[in-house]
Amino acid sequence: MPRDSHSPRLATRLVKGGTSTVVNGGRAVNPPVVRASTALFESMADLNDARRRRSSERLFTYGARGNPTGFALEDVVSGLEGGYRTRLFPTGLAAMTMVFLAYLRPGDHVLISDCVYQPLRHFVRTFLEPWGVNVTYFRADGSDAASHMTPRTRLIYAECPGSLVYELCDLPALAELAHRHGALLAADNTWGSGVQYRPLTLGADISIMAATKYLSGHSDVMMGTVTTTEAAWQPLSTMSDAQGVAVSPDDAYLVLRGTRTLGARLAMHEKHALEVAHWLAAQPIVARVFCPALPEHPGHKLWQRDCSGTNGLISLELSDVSPDAAARFVDGLALFGIGASWGGFESLATVVNVADTRICEDWRTAGPIVRLHIGLEDPHDLIDDLAQSLNAVTRDRA
Ligand SMILES: *Cc1c(COP(=O)(O)O)cnc(C)c1O
Repeated sequence: MPRDSHSPRLATRLVKGGTSTVVNGGRAVNPPVVRASTALFESMADLNDARRRRSSERLFTYGARGNPTGFALEDVVSGLEGGYRTRLFPTGLAAMTMVFLAYLRPGDHVLISDCVYQPLRHFVRTFLEPWGVNVTYFRADGSDAASHMTPRTRLIYAECPGSLVYELCDLPALAELAHRHGALLAADNTWGSGVQYRPLTLGADISIMAATKYLSGHSDVMMGTVTTTEAAWQPLSTMSDAQGVAVSPDDAYLVLRGTRTLGARLAMHEKHALEVAHWLAAQPIVARVFCPALPEHPGHKLWQRDCSGTNGLISLELSDVSPDAAARFVDGLALFGIGASWGGFESLATVVNVADTRICEDWRTAGPIVRLHIGLEDPHDLIDDLAQSLNAVTRDRA
């Protein structure tokens, strides 16, 4: 992974970023939770000076424009992403939608990856298209993106690796395509967490993360982040201020606390997930295992080039069983929670419908697909659990 020549490495940035200030005596390891709506100034002159500068500089002037605890988290995220500045949003989805509001206007055209986080399509149908923005979905591997560019295309929105089966696209090539047409490239970086993948270092202008997932890491808080290059910053900042979007300092504190152990947790998620993935790939009832770190994954070469590792997500396709049997497989797991989201310390399983979430490619002939999030439990226990439930499904099939 490319690295600025003098910047500290990832694990160091996670520990050293977003620090506290000296109060009276020593300095706490962690920045304080500053709960505040109002900020007080010494004089009207100071207040007016802050108001003049607050749109271009990060100043604490009012809670709706962010708070000092959130600023500390912003700094950690900017360092992770290798970007200029970061804004925080109440959910990952709110972070995504703000990007469309900040950079598009009625009459504009946007290209969106077919593997985009599914709820975004709802935003496209209920707001973006009625508002007058033209939307084209492009193949998850990016291969047809160039053919969809128009003179009105202002933004390419990628997700890499993609939701559910982790398709990769050539992000530097998409950046080149966007910039050649005077457009911007945004990427959903929730999978990569700024650790395994860093879109801004690969040419993207805007990177979005659901901090709800690995940054927080404990399934107890929701948050989204948007980090941009310096050139792309102002529209995001202006639109966020215009809409009064801010996060609570308590939530920012929780996410900041999660980031301190992000590197350690991800290394463990990766190790456990690879053990489970290799075991799954050897099971006769498993047709395919989706994980970009496996050589058989279609995006493996790009993963090798652009990613520094994988995470706890793997999906598997069951061979020759009904969707009901896939549900029974998930129901039969004792150690995996059944639920949406991922990125916490716990293992999760859910049946996913890839066919219903892709329009550029036909997934209807694939067998049922189950997404696993491999948590921090002992992987041998997880494999035992998967084995007993897969055996039950295999017996039923026979
Ligand atoms: C979960 C997720 C989101 C949305 O985050 P929320 O905080 O749940 O709103 C966005 N993109 C991807 C890829 C996700 O997995």
